[in-house]
Amino acid sequence: MGIKVAKFGGSSVADGIQLTKTKAIIEQDPDRRYIVVSAPGKRFEGDNKITDLLYLCKTHIEHNLPYDQLFQVVADRYMAVEVNLGVKVDLLRYFDEIRENLKKNPSSDYIASRGEYLNAILVAAFLGYDFVDTAELIKFDTKGKLLMEETDQAIREELSKHERAVLPGFYGSTPDGQIKTFSRGGSDITGALVARAVGADVYENWTDVSGFLMADPRIVKNPKQIHYISYKELRELSYMGASVLHEDAIYPARMANVPINIRNTNHPEDMGTFITAEVSAPSSEDENSIITGIAGSKDFTVVALYKNMMSSERGFVRRILGILDDCDINFEHLPSGIDTVSVVMSNKSINGRLDEVLDEFEARLRPDSIDVIENIALIATVGHGMSARTGVSATLFKALADAGVNIRMIDQGSSEMNIIVGVDNKDFEKAIRAIYDAFVE
Ligand code: ASP
Repeated sequence: MGIKVAKFGGSSVADGIQLTKTKAIIEQDPDRRYIVVSAPGKRFEGDNKITDLLYLCKTHIEHNLPYDQLFQVVADRYMAVEVNLGVKVDLLRYFDEIRENLKKNPSSDYIASRGEYLNAILVAAFLGYDFVDTAELIKFDTKGKLLMEETDQAIREELSKHERAVLPGFYGSTPDGQIKTFSRGGSDITGALVARAVGADVYENWTDVSGFLMADPRIVKNPKQIHYISYKELRELSYMGASVLHEDAIYPARMANVPINIRNTNHPEDMGTFITAEVSAPSSEDENSIITGIAGSKDFTVVALYKNMMSSERGFVRRILGILDDCDINFEHLPSGIDTVSVVMSNKSINGRLDEVLDEFEARLRPDSIDVIENIALIATVGHGMSARTGVSATLFKALADAGVNIRMIDQGSSEMNIIVGVDNKDFEKAIRAIYDAFVE
């Protein structure tokens, strides 16, 4: 028998109807032995996610406001599922335990984690699987950094004792036994860690979309589905803003060479997207595709530094990096010429401190000139199919020229897997449509 790890996101476990679909999916393939669940998510537009309600409880506690009713809303959601699905788990006992702990003003990580905890207990009973808590399996150090190897070993040891189990996503604990969560959406990481530990054949990530699309559907009408994408391509795209999978979920799967398959609980017949080690594209349909996807985001600032004879001045770039480090700012790109270097930073990272950075550049680099270009959008066109192929950049630049888009910056990695262009924010959508049409349509 093979092993599949299946993680079900908030919308897949939001209520009895969704959980019935989830159960059917699990039972349809006996290899789906280890199930990781999120807390119940939104059931409809405008509904609340359990995790958000739990964080709100913490805010109430901190402000000495009554939180009983709020917690009751949470409890009612689970009880409705218990009744609808006819599961017997004595939820009241768990609610009492949590209520007792709430009186002691516990950490927000503890409170938030109870969404996954309660859900995993309920889903385990519904499926007839064992419940295995991740509190002692997912290990963080005292500073809250994930201890990858210790975690791997602990999960492997524990799950070797269980033929089938449901595990809560999102949290683990620090050495002193305190609950610690990942960042939001972190159940994806739990799933990847479990998949790595048990050496799964595949890590299925069930959500409410059928995988990745080649471009943002809010910009391109009916973009094509991506059926196969490599971990590397996905990094290039997710980094630019695609948000189906938590980006930290890629690393554990990639380490153990476990393919990730994004699937849709509402359309289980769709194959979804496979994320694999290498450029696979085994289907003939994908074989000839040059690009895999296009992604981007707005609001970057470019600081262009010019200094005569810069290329013969040693340590210039090192000093730029030192300044950014001192100011705690990440840079996205650093395109350079003989006497110029441009530093591309997101406005989010600059966080209102542009003047401070410019002063430092002025004082410590003594450039001949500094130009600041604001309101820049970056667009990454990504695909292994682009490498060693002539005419790809010509097609891309011609498409942008035909659309009347002025390119402010170009960056192509020598792997030839991506071309990044900087355009004015106002041209962002137009540029993405032009690139998509040129390569896909
Ligand atoms: N429930 C958590 C959140 O809403 C974690 C997750 O669903 O992955 O962020």
